[in-house]
Amino acid sequence: MTIKVRDKIVADGLVDSSFDVTQKGKHVNALEFNNLLDNENTICVDMRNHYESEIGHFQNAITPDVDTFRESLPIIEEDLSEHKKEKNLLMYCTGGIRCEKASAYFKHKGFQNVYQLEGGIIEYARQVKTLGIENKFIGKNFVFDERRGERISDEVIAQCHQCGAPCDTHVNCINEACHLLFIQCKACQEKMDQCCSTDCQEILALPLEQQRELRKGTHNSNKIFKKGRSEVLKFKQ
Ligand SMILES: [Zn+2]
Ligand SMILES: [Zn+2]
Repeated sequence: MTIKVRDKIVADGLVDSSFDVTQKGKHVNALEFNNLLDNENTICVDMRNHYESEIGHFQNAITPDVDTFRESLPIIEEDLSEHKKEKNLLMYCTGGIRCEKASAYFKHKGFQNVYQLEGGIIEYARQVKTLGIENKFIGKNFVFDERRGERISDEVIAQCHQCGAPCDTHVNCINEACHLLFIQCKACQEKMDQCCSTDCQEILALPLEQQRELRKGTHNSNKIFKKGRSEVLKFKQ
């Protein structure tokens, strides 16, 4: 186990004292979530980032094209501003944590009917399985451990970022100096030696000692978090 000290679990960029974080949305379970999703008066919003919803999301959900949670909040508020009073705002995320904050934020911003999926997609999938509830989630749930994703339905909704073939397997570029997270099919994995680009392939072909020399003093975290938006990846939807 690794323990890291952080000021906040979720980097949301919000000043907590500027609104009442205890005024959260109404928590719903899988069955209640399905019923709300079927309601035509509901707008369902995916509170996760683009690389997460890319491989799986709820039917008819709005999936904001954002890199961070922080960035998504004002965009969603603006896009839905005319529906604050009459529509149900139904939100979900991976494990329910982001929604704890987002729902209070949207209520503060004047949304009247705010609902959040309790325990997120992880708990939804568990309830669907154990209680025999209809599954309305398509594809994979992106997770932050080495699996990178948990399959929830058989549909593959994403494409290999290198050739465009149907694929929803996230990998990290094997070049230690890169580690870019992206979607790569088996064929491209073989052809590219598990690299994101020919540049990384060339570095990988160097002796380890030389690779280490090249890495010295460089930081790759910005590249990692491009997550599929890197210009080296040729296939864009
Ligand atoms: Zn491919
Ligand atoms: Zn790479």
